[in-house]
Amino acid sequence: MDHATDAIGDAGRYDRQSRLPGFGATCQARLGAAHAMVIGCGALGCAAIDLLARAGVGRLTVIDRDLVESSNLQRQSLYSEADAQQGAPKAEAAARRVALINSGVRAEALVEDVTPENVERLIVPHPRPGVLVDCTDNFQTRYLLNDAAVKHGVPVAYGAAVGWAGMVASFERSGGACLRCVFPEPPAEVAGQSCDVAGVFGPVAAMVGAMQAAEAVRMLAAPAGVAGFGGALWTIDAQLGRWQRVALPEPDAACPACRQDGARAHEWLSGARWTREGVVCARLSGGRGAVRVMPGQAGASAVTIDLGALASRLGAHGRFALRGQGRGAVMTGRLAGGAWEGLDVTVFGDGRAVIAGTTDLSVARSLYARLIGV
Ligand SMILES: [Zn+2]
Repeated sequence: MDHATDAIGDAGRYDRQSRLPGFGATCQARLGAAHAMVIGCGALGCAAIDLLARAGVGRLTVIDRDLVESSNLQRQSLYSEADAQQGAPKAEAAARRVALINSGVRAEALVEDVTPENVERLIVPHPRPGVLVDCTDNFQTRYLLNDAAVKHGVPVAYGAAVGWAGMVASFERSGGACLRCVFPEPPAEVAGQSCDVAGVFGPVAAMVGAMQAAEAVRMLAAPAGVAGFGGALWTIDAQLGRWQRVALPEPDAACPACRQDGARAHEWLSGARWTREGVVCARLSGGRGAVRVMPGQAGASAVTIDLGALASRLGAHGRFALRGQGRGAVMTGRLAGGAWEGLDVTVFGDGRAVIAGTTDLSVARSLYARLIGV
């Protein structure tokens, strides 16, 4: 459609943006023809998606593996209480909201766990996105996205928020540093440490998501004379009342991900450093913790399971129900009786499961093997 006007026939829709010095109708048209991919539809993703949809980015792909929960509503601004009550997949709820905000945006929801098996399929569609907005909540997915973005030359608007603090940087790949040049290794995971433990301040997450949206718009529309927040790592700390800007370093000639001498090692993309299961942030069971378990077979993205058959099979162990359809379908229920009394089980069509009510990996693995068995 013509992005000079919009679906409600209002030619002035983008007037205040087009009037910005350096922006104009040309940049607006570039945005209308552009594709942004937002990975992670939590607090950062919600803020970024809202702003990108309102700015008139023509195509938005939003990806998230999780369901909306009531504990998300404090900061995840695209979701309603009804989304939480229904346990709607976040990506689908976000895309529905985008359609209400700006019907001229083509929004696509992918309810997927981003893995080494599917990340390249996701980020190299036709057309490939002009920017990846990394709003994920865990280090291994960030390093995986960095590997894939470097390999395919896709710019990344990176953000993270935890506690009272946040961080933003753009990795634009025009001969610049990548995430691993700046942080060669992810921090050591602290047992039991997660966003549930640390908490997250909604306004800081919104600031980070807004800065990522600003960077995405700058990269897609290329307004004249606008430096945006590029070329630097920005940190925000609402507890100390501090903003800091540190210039991004030169690319590290020995960086495993982006070195130019042919000796690259994309360790997350290759799967060498990828862990398939772990304790997750999700509070699917009243803050009791949860463990994510992936299908055990190689090529996990190819697994498809019949959730209806699984729900009837599990009927002997508790009450289970199906929600949603197609790729967004999930089966949920609570186990009754036996060693797994009270555990909540959520299974997705790709074989992924979240076992809530425990943080014990061996308990979750054993339950998965015995009851789900993909
Ligand atoms: Zn690098």
